[in-house]
Amino acid sequence: MRLENKQAIVTGGAGGIGRATSIALAAEGAAVAVVDLNADAAAAVAEEIRAAGGTAIAIAADVSAEADIERVVATAVAEFGGVNVVFNNAGIIRRTTAVETTVEEWDRVFGVNVRSIFLMCKHIVPIMAAAGGGSIVNTGSGWGLKGGGQALSYCASKGAVVNMTRALAIDHGPQGIRVNSVNPGDVNTGMLRDEARQLSQDPDAFLAEAADRPLQRMGEPREIAAAVVWLASDESSYVTGSALVVDGGGIA
Ligand code: NAD
Repeated sequence: MRLENKQAIVTGGAGGIGRATSIALAAEGAAVAVVDLNADAAAAVAEEIRAAGGTAIAIAADVSAEADIERVVATAVAEFGGVNVVFNNAGIIRRTTAVETTVEEWDRVFGVNVRSIFLMCKHIVPIMAAAGGGSIVNTGSGWGLKGGGQALSYCASKGAVVNMTRALAIDHGPQGIRVNSVNPGDVNTGMLRDEARQLSQDPDAFLAEAADRPLQRMGEPREIAAAVVWLASDESSYVTGSALVVDGGGIA
């Protein structure tokens, strides 16, 4: 049990990476608040954790809205007695260029992918600081580090996630709060499968391209979850401000 005495909030906890991470955190002993726009799916993940003997609650929320974030933080603290781990993972993608992107879509992507992290930190940092510290992990993306095609708002938002992670680490390190980003490559989730259907006549061929990297396959959600468990745990006690890349070697 590497996460005994940890209480965690996981946003996007009903999706591919968020579900796997909620389950992995709980399996290591953390109490987990599974937060998602999809209330039924979040409830199902929390139930799955409880059925396995873990501790979990589900909270339906839109992470881009400050009132929702305040409610999430208050509910998790009331339920668990504190929160010392946050995985800011909820995210959306729009596969469009600058020419095709509307201002509304741009703002929505930034609301869900970037403003959510600012809002969560605004409300969780005072709680973590008062308790002596904590670990915040933000989901960036390989495309937040190197860019990518036909996803301008997404690439810009994930670049912001990587750099705001560093800025948060600088601001709140003295309070004992570590802040890191985990940056996946292509991972086998609903998001990637939706993209394949949207962008290609042959979704299987699209997904096969995701395997074009040194480890010759796309990632599985549990492989991202394992990195988050480590960053959440005290094993990574001297790691902050880092951008951990988990992508099967997507540099090639
Ligand atoms: P997913 O679509 O399976 O899960 C995302 C979850 O976030 C969904 O359950 C969705 O309901 C939830 N969500 C969306 N908007 C929300 C909102 N406003 N408030 C609360 N919840 C909201 O996707 P995933 O692949 O598991 O993605 C998780 C994270 O990983 C995202 O930030 C994504 O950008 C990032 N990522 C994914 C990949 C990949 O290949 N799958 C690669 C790099 C980065």
